Amino acid sequence: MEVFKTVLKNREYVAKKLDQKYGNLRVRMSCPICGLADKNSVNNEYEENTITFYCPEHGKYSVNVNKGISKLEYNSPLRNLIRGMSYTATNHSENYNYEILRITGSDYAGFYQEELRYKVASYLGCNVSEMSMIFYAPLVLDWSGAKLLKSLYVKEGAYQDIPKKFINYSFLKADLSYKGLDILYDIVINWINNPYMLFRHYSIYYFMEEFEKYE
Ligand SMILES: [Zn+2]
Repeated sequence: MEVFKTVLKNREYVAKKLDQKYGNLRVRMSCPICGLADKNSVNNEYEENTITFYCPEHGKYSVNVNKGISKLEYNSPLRNLIRGMSYTATNHSENYNYEILRITGSDYAGFYQEELRYKVASYLGCNVSEMSMIFYAPLVLDWSGAKLLKSLYVKEGAYQDIPKKFINYSFLKADLSYKGLDILYDIVINWINNPYMLFRHYSIYYFMEEFEKYE
């Protein structure tokens, strides 16, 4: 909650950095009557600890962040920032005897974090050299080097040359039962045992070859 209040106090800066398209602080809450939410936070109004939202059907509704913060939702960059700063606070608090480590896909590494997390968190007074750690998981790529996307497969009929079991788990299960997961586990545990294999990406064709070895 303290993190979000800091964000609120600096909302003009945060909005400009994290929402270059609309310049809004991308916080939303769905209408308590119909569930509709202003996704781009266009009609939000802010007072010190209160945010007022607007539903075209039911008018204005408000939340006091001291009581209703759990009702709020954020777009990805704002959620990423708030999580990062909250994890950092937890990691440095004596009330917790554990540390939070975030695991996310490598497509969120690099420029995204530098511009949308570290620079903004630093501006908001967070000591970024002590910030919570992010581990970036390897990506599975297609022939062109783009991330393999199930939605592309479903919508565009892409990846015709790739056996279905490498795209959709239900086919893998039908073909190999749980042995498919065992093989996947063996492949990945090998990366963890050989960390130089962990900090890179893999093409889907790599999995096709590995599976042939294990099958
Ligand atoms: Zn409504």
